Amino acid sequence: MIVGIDGPSGTGKSSTSKAVAAKLGLRYLDTGAQYRAITWWMLHNGIDLTDPAAIAAAAGRPEIVSGTDPAAPAITVDGQDVSAPIRGQEVTSAVSAVSAVPEVRARITALQREIARQAQGGIVVEGRDIGTTVLPDADAKIFLTASEEARAARRSGEQGGRDAQSLAATRQALARRDAADSGRKTSPLAKAGDAIEVDTTELTLEQVIECVVTLIEE
Ligand code: C5P
Repeated sequence: MIVGIDGPSGTGKSSTSKAVAAKLGLRYLDTGAQYRAITWWMLHNGIDLTDPAAIAAAAGRPEIVSGTDPAAPAITVDGQDVSAPIRGQEVTSAVSAVSAVPEVRARITALQREIARQAQGGIVVEGRDIGTTVLPDADAKIFLTASEEARAARRSGEQGGRDAQSLAATRQALARRDAADSGRKTSPLAKAGDAIEVDTTELTLEQVIECVVTLIEE
């Protein structure tokens, strides 16, 4: 059983994917964490992130290992656990530029297919291009959406800032990242033709999880 869950940031994709994997006894892969990990490595190795050729040349260098336990999906780069630093502002601001480079996508996509192939009993893979590009033959494809307001409010809340100013800043940053992820030439954020769309704007996390489990089991 291979499940692809795609959608923009702030739709509850990670929380939903982890919970669905745990409920169904499947492995879990956070593909955004892989793009964040390679971005973290580039930032720490002085790669010029304004130069796509430099990013492409370095794309094969770091060794990235993704854990697939939905309860504790750690990720290492060259043996170092980077689960925490990849969530920082520095990586979040730089990741869209790195993930737009075709050589980076080719490398990470190959890793993702290998992990999905080896997953015992099946896997939930969450990302932006799983249904369209990485695993077009997935058994179930879900595309999560939510209004821009709801997504910004959720993200801002996760970051601990609930005031109007931090909400506005989060909304702007999300819109910038979505525009970059949707506008890139190689496998942009997109809904696969055969994916089922779930609008999470008015739903609690528990309702989204239940809805996705039901869709997968149908
Ligand atoms: O899901 P998350 O916000 O952690 O993803 C971080 C970034 O990784 C996205 O903004 C996007 O640039 C990139 N990404 C991607 N393809 C995926 C998953 C993530 O390009 N399948």
